[in-house]
Amino acid sequence: MKVAIAGAGVAGSYCARLLLAEGYEIDLYDLPHPNPCGIAPCAWMTTAGIAPLLAAAGLDYQAYILERFSSVRFEDHEVQAALMTIDKPRLIRDLQSGITVIAGSPDPSRYDRLIDATGTARAFLPPVPQDCLGQCVQVRVQVSPALQSVPMVRYVNGGYAWSFPIGCNLRHIGCISHLTDPASLLQGCHLLEDAIGLPICRCRSLLRVTAPSGALPFVSPDRKIWGVGEAIGCVYPIVGDGIVPAFESVRLLLSHMDDPGAYTAEVMAAFPQMEAERDILLALKAGRLPGPGQLLRAGDLDRLGMRIGTVEIARIITRALACTSQVGDQRP
Ligand SMILES: Cc1cc2nc3c(=O)[nH]c(=O)nc-3n(C[C@H](O)[C@H](O)[C@H](O)COP(=O)(O)OP(=O)(O)OC[C@H]3O[C@@H](n4cnc5c(N)ncnc54)[C@H](O)[C@@H]3O)c2cc1C
Repeated sequence: MKVAIAGAGVAGSYCARLLLAEGYEIDLYDLPHPNPCGIAPCAWMTTAGIAPLLAAAGLDYQAYILERFSSVRFEDHEVQAALMTIDKPRLIRDLQSGITVIAGSPDPSRYDRLIDATGTARAFLPPVPQDCLGQCVQVRVQVSPALQSVPMVRYVNGGYAWSFPIGCNLRHIGCISHLTDPASLLQGCHLLEDAIGLPICRCRSLLRVTAPSGALPFVSPDRKIWGVGEAIGCVYPIVGDGIVPAFESVRLLLSHMDDPGAYTAEVMAAFPQMEAERDILLALKAGRLPGPGQLLRAGDLDRLGMRIGTVEIARIITRALACTSQVGDQRP
């Protein structure tokens, strides 16, 4: 079978590597990136779930760790966690090792199968009727060596801002908001005050916040185009982690290469918490506060190594909601 993979981000590059190892004839395509880091979107924080997924591709996740963390600071409140920042550009380069990335978009008529790994672009699958994309801004900056190496999160109107250490006194600082332009919120949340000099790079990007159930179909009606990763909503709508889910979706695809129904059912079953986070976002965007049941369903943060009780979750969410002054006013 001759397979084209559109998109050489984490999902597409991982997919290319695994399909090649299984003997498929593949071509991997991507569009030129304007960002200096050469990837889009840049994202650095990940969880222990990455280890077995990279091992399946013959890679050792430890080679990509920039920093490890045992806690995250939400405003002034520190919560236990098990997280790490990784060198995502290097990981993508290694996944693509031995594969030539063709510049441009594939012509579907030249292939038996096309994998849509184009992230928020979802360039080949049918469009999502009620697609929802959150706006993000991000910068990479140098900070003082004296700054404590702990990930920080601040609540902003309709979202949050983050500052993640990525080694060598560098930080990845960004903001997502579902209500307001995140650029102005990032300026106002004081995280950039830690920066020394001008940002090394900056970019804007989008995050698909529909969860998988809002990004159907995963396979085109003629069974030619199959989606993976963020193209089919495999990213946590509130927390925003999509690297591990992108890899997981590729593994599911490989297990069901000829069964669209089984693939769809497995993806839908694999990420129940994405649906819980999506329900909270929908409630907020409709101007309602999420119910206790919704908060509880979304509050299981085991994948992040966070073992926090419901009282603590309620406290974090209450603080976050207190910063969201215009719920329902400005829908993106
Ligand atoms: C600001 C921000 C911060 C984030 N931080 C984190 C984080 O810390 N941890 C985490 O786990 N997740 C994070 N995420 C989410 C994560 O980055 C994505 O979910 C993940 O990268 C999705 O991978 P993907 O391969 O499906 O899509 P992408 O990584 O978006 O890759 C899609 C690729 O397709 C290419 N493409 C687009 N259109 C075409 C076309 N027509 N033809 C060919 N190629 C095309 C693009 O150029 C791109 O290279 C973040 C997202 C954002 C926006």
